[in-house]
Amino acid sequence: MTHGYLIDMDGVIYRGNELIPGAAEFVRELLARDIPFVFLTNNSQRTRRDVVFKLKRMGITIDESHVFTCAMATARFLASQKPDGTAYVIGEGGLMYALHANGYAVVDHDPDYVVVGEGRTITFEMMEKAMNMIRDGAKLIATNIDPSCPTANGSVRPGCGAIVAMLESATGKQAFSVGKPSPVMMRAARTELGLRTEQTIMVGDTMETDILGGAQMGYHTVLTLTGGTRREDLPNYAYQPERIVDSIADLLKTIDQAPATPEVPKKTSKTPTPATAA
Ligand SMILES: [Mg+2]
Repeated sequence: MTHGYLIDMDGVIYRGNELIPGAAEFVRELLARDIPFVFLTNNSQRTRRDVVFKLKRMGITIDESHVFTCAMATARFLASQKPDGTAYVIGEGGLMYALHANGYAVVDHDPDYVVVGEGRTITFEMMEKAMNMIRDGAKLIATNIDPSCPTANGSVRPGCGAIVAMLESATGKQAFSVGKPSPVMMRAARTELGLRTEQTIMVGDTMETDILGGAQMGYHTVLTLTGGTRREDLPNYAYQPERIVDSIADLLKTIDQAPATPEVPKKTSKTPTPATAA
């Protein structure tokens, strides 16, 4: 094993309910060549199984081990911080399931954590309840801080970050976020694949999550232009992707190639020759 891929889904593999041309072939080749990969998503609504099913309907057959969601990352993180804890959840099935699977009880009174994910079922009563729990000492956890979510019809809706911002503003407390670009999720996904840092290639369409997360971890980064980022947006960022491709289809040619690791100067026992004055 020389390298492996962490792959974002929305904007890389599909847009809305449409598969991006070349994505299915790319995944088929990864499987055929036994190259490790995992789909990394900041969507906490779906369980692993739901994601497998959604992709299958689109023509991509993978198993649950190829899916890593921010809901899973959040639940595992909380279980490591406070085993057998309790959470009040603003979110949907994927988040509830992940918390239960990691030994958490979902409660609506005096929780250890208020955990926020995406959802369309949120009410003002839930926000009021969450606010008072946080005031009473519950810690505010965000599955991610994406301000908006793409919808199937090509539009957007308020994302987890927007819901979290409302609670932060109301309570004066800052949330801890686990999803991309948090190192918690970026590292967990890599270790899940058994890869080393320099063997890991993050492929995504969003600078603020996929590329920032990868860059912070020292992973190789590939930006695909099939999602929300255009080439002309890049000068606005202090960090840049290592490689830019029009679409994931362009990665097929190099699928087998381990990315080049920048050369680290070798230490020698000799006294270094003094550098020429600049
Ligand atoms: Mg994306």
